Amino acid sequence: MDPMVELDTQPWDRPAPERAGRLSMYGVLPEEFTAMGAPGRGEHIFGMIQRPWEYREGFPRLSREIREWLAANFDTALPEVAECHASEDGSTKLMLRLGDGECIEAVHMPRVVRNPRVTLCVSSQVGCAMGCAFCATGTLGIRRNLTAGEIVGQVLTALRKLGPERPHAITLVFMGMGEPLHNLEQVHRAIRILNHTKGLNISTRRITVSTSGLVPGIERLAYLEPRPWLAVSLNATTDEARSALMPVNRAWNMARLRQALGAWPLGDREKLTIEYVLVGGENDTPEDADRLADWMGELRRGHNVNLIRMNEHEAASFKEPAEAQVDAFVARLKARGCFVTVRKSRGRDVQGACGQLVKNGKDSELRSANC
Ligand code: SAH
Ligand code: SF4
Repeated sequence: MDPMVELDTQPWDRPAPERAGRLSMYGVLPEEFTAMGAPGRGEHIFGMIQRPWEYREGFPRLSREIREWLAANFDTALPEVAECHASEDGSTKLMLRLGDGECIEAVHMPRVVRNPRVTLCVSSQVGCAMGCAFCATGTLGIRRNLTAGEIVGQVLTALRKLGPERPHAITLVFMGMGEPLHNLEQVHRAIRILNHTKGLNISTRRITVSTSGLVPGIERLAYLEPRPWLAVSLNATTDEARSALMPVNRAWNMARLRQALGAWPLGDREKLTIEYVLVGGENDTPEDADRLADWMGELRRGHNVNLIRMNEHEAASFKEPAEAQVDAFVARLKARGCFVTVRKSRGRDVQGACGQLVKNGKDSELRSANC
């Protein structure tokens, strides 16, 4: 078959379905409230609904006129917590139900340093079109894009339930369900809202978008403002192996992906992250480590390799790597001048770790679990 014909049929070439229904008020910027004829200052309304520290049930600090205007013109509901699973390691997996009954997952991971800091892992789509062989979400296929209001809503629901309130203590990673660059418009709108000085004001240095390597999306995001930091999931070191694990590689191969990263306009002290899931017996040899270092080339200086042990799940037969393989892989990368971290996967016991986020669909028997 002509390869181009095959490419035309790939699911990520088609826009994902969008949600019908009313616009969420959490997806609206201050100037848009004003332009839409709000009976008050757009910035005031935005600040009251976006800042967790201003939140009071029913928004009593907004005038009755504004509250009625919002209720008449927007969907004012946040995603609901359908299930909440506290892990032994301190992280919490939240299953959130959206207005149309679809469910997504977000993972709240406190890092106890001197102050309570939290990394929040959020979803960008219901399901995912990319079909990576090792990923539980990938087995679902794509159901729909999240709207910006739903992405922001996820963050606000998680922060209202589990904290913290303040922007300096929050790190956001788009590493939950979905391929964020397959939903770039809504993901970027959400980032504009979450980064807005009148709202949560989360710095772009603390927002990371992780992609499986949708090159056109990387090239568009590179020139959008505000621009989050970028992580790319490489996960293999030859085109043959990568195409087998990640179908996206058949459209944009490793050389093309590397070219896009080389063209990323780095900001001051900005780092790229190369994520690499170590799958036992598949991509975890010292030769793989060497090829990974070769592929990175110049990027070895000043950027990060983040190794993730394969989290096993029922949807795939892949296994986690042997510890000796992980140690040898790390040692080889370090010897080749890479800066390497091994991710501590959080929430494994509640199926909240990378690649384990599978729950979706309309579930009539959702229950409140252990928090
Ligand atoms: N779709 C984006 C972001 C969500 S996946 C992406 O692919 O980058 C977040 C990370 O989890 C990716 O680096 C992905 O490679 C990794 N991952 C997927 N399945 C995994 C599994 N079973 N075990 C460990 N990591 C996994
Ligand atoms: Fe989608 Fe990322 Fe899972 Fe691949 S690894 S199927 S891109 S969520």
